[in-house]
Amino acid sequence: MRPLIAGNWKMNGLTEPSVALARAIRHGLGDASVEVLLCPPATQLASVTGIVEGSGIGTGGQDCHAKEQGAHTGDISAVMLRDAGASYVILGHSERRQDHGETSEMVAAKVRAAVKAGLIPIVCVGETESERASGAQEAIVGQQIAASLPEDFDGVVAYEPIWAIGTGKVPTSADITRMHDFIRKELIRDLPEGANLRILYGGSVKPSNAAEILSLPEVGGALVGGASLIAEDFLAIIRAV
Ligand code: PGA
Repeated sequence: MRPLIAGNWKMNGLTEPSVALARAIRHGLGDASVEVLLCPPATQLASVTGIVEGSGIGTGGQDCHAKEQGAHTGDISAVMLRDAGASYVILGHSERRQDHGETSEMVAAKVRAAVKAGLIPIVCVGETESERASGAQEAIVGQQIAASLPEDFDGVVAYEPIWAIGTGKVPTSADITRMHDFIRKELIRDLPEGANLRILYGGSVKPSNAAEILSLPEVGGALVGGASLIAEDFLAIIRAV
């Protein structure tokens, strides 16, 4: 399966810089052998989708509500993301789990809504620094996988150690390999499609470490935060595959 390089713009991007960033990525991409995805804030989704249309670059949301519509002030449904041009949606990012109290059960409900709307979910899992320090990373990530992925899950899993997000700290290649191998085993045991799902790595991926991380056997791509906001850096990560 083609590797996926996804840019998570998080809560960054007014109209002008978003348009400029999407244009620069589109024009700089060339013949990429990887799948490229931009996940701008919801307010920029339709315009970014318009800019990358026909280029093979996809767009995605950063979260969705579990319901299709109704009295949920401030929320955005999967159907709305699809309507704005998204083909993917990031779900269960650690910033959602931490800042909005999202549980794995809530994430699973969102995954179902996303799939029903025709979106491919990218479900994030990962341990905190103290969980890693106590050796609990497999137990934590195993629980998150079991509870966040519905039994017929067909989408993408992103392993994002929370202590590596936005910190410049990256696990060793051996540690990434160990966790991705572990996640693969869990997916194979629990899901019919488990052997074929892409497992992305996320957390301080940069041009300088991308080639090494992306060459690891069970790493099927990257979920990139900070470095996805700079066109040159994001393109360098894509070229590192
Ligand atoms: P980062 O974020 O690349 O800035 O560490 C990754 C993410 O949160 O998806």
